[in-house]
Amino acid sequence: MVKVYFEKDASLTPLKNKTITVIGYGSQGHAQAQNLRDSGLNVIIGLRKGGESWKKAQKDGFKVYEISEAAEKADVIFVLVPDMAQPEIYARDIAPHLHEGKTLDFAHGFNIHFKQIVPPKNVDVIMVAPKSPGIRLRETYQAGFGVPALVAVYQNPSGMAMETALAVAKALGCTRAGVIETTFKDETESDLIGEQTVLVGGLIELIKNGFDVLVENGYPPELAYFEACNEAKLIMDLIYQKGIIGMLRAVSDTAKYGGLTVGPKVIDEHVKENMRKTVKNVQNGSFAKEWVEEHKSGEKRLKALMEEIEKHPLEQVGKFIRKTSGIEK
Ligand code: NAD
Ligand code: MG
Repeated sequence: MVKVYFEKDASLTPLKNKTITVIGYGSQGHAQAQNLRDSGLNVIIGLRKGGESWKKAQKDGFKVYEISEAAEKADVIFVLVPDMAQPEIYARDIAPHLHEGKTLDFAHGFNIHFKQIVPPKNVDVIMVAPKSPGIRLRETYQAGFGVPALVAVYQNPSGMAMETALAVAKALGCTRAGVIETTFKDETESDLIGEQTVLVGGLIELIKNGFDVLVENGYPPELAYFEACNEAKLIMDLIYQKGIIGMLRAVSDTAKYGGLTVGPKVIDEHVKENMRKTVKNVQNGSFAKEWVEEHKSGEKRLKALMEEIEKHPLEQVGKFIRKTSGIEK
């Protein structure tokens, strides 16, 4: 069983009288910085001079510095810029200011696990990864609760790294909802495998293929959109709230029987085989290598794939339906 920590298991003491530098003021950065400050901690922000985020962070009442200066002032450095931007920022603006006693904190393990960032042995390296977008992390904190998070320690020269990670999780509000101990390896790999096989990759293809097959058999695209895409949210909401069994109890007996008997023929053993190949490519680092190279060469393939999806009939009819039905403002 995994270890789960709650409020009583964590103390803010390791962060008291420390300077916390949050680098980046995007989804996670703005939420984490404000939650930490509202928990009584001393937070400054490190950003590129003149960027959009600079004004926003200042407006929210933070002292903002250039990344290098903010890293120098810090005891604990939160690296909350996009994953693909981290290695360059780390090498140029953070690494020169690392020395014994400092802590590096990440919200995702990619760069550490795949060695895109290799910190010196004398700094603590931790991860606190809230399991939600930043906006939800902030909202639930303000409502007096929190979102669950994962915590991990990569290296621990101070002997205090887990205490620091739990203090961060507590200050973010996450120990109210429960914090699961993991490793950089497990968080990074399971995150990539999950988003590729199920959450992003799997769902897109399932929805798109379902839509295509309905349309190629002569059903109107509008009808196909409702069946293959729009209703997927309603089903997922039920699964989220009550589990698969709760969802099954809520749909018709016809849907139960058809779903349970035909589903395994559609998503069959060969899909599972493909998922296993995905796992291999994540674990052996070949996906990470491919993505880092794609990023370095200007993300041309990613841009082309985005354009292709945007042109798909599902997206065209979806745009129309969401507008006319008031789903998309
Ligand atoms: P984001 O894209 O919202 O962050 C943007 C911020 O980084 C902005 O302040 C921007 O000005 C700055 N930035 C972007 N490129 C930069 C560059 N080249 N140089 C300097 N600053 C730059 O990022 P995010 O989604 O908050 O992700 C931050 C970390 O949190 C990542 O490790 C991510 O995996 C992790 N994470 C994100 C979420 C999420 O829901 N967004 C959830 C859990 C963990
Ligand atoms: Mg992910």
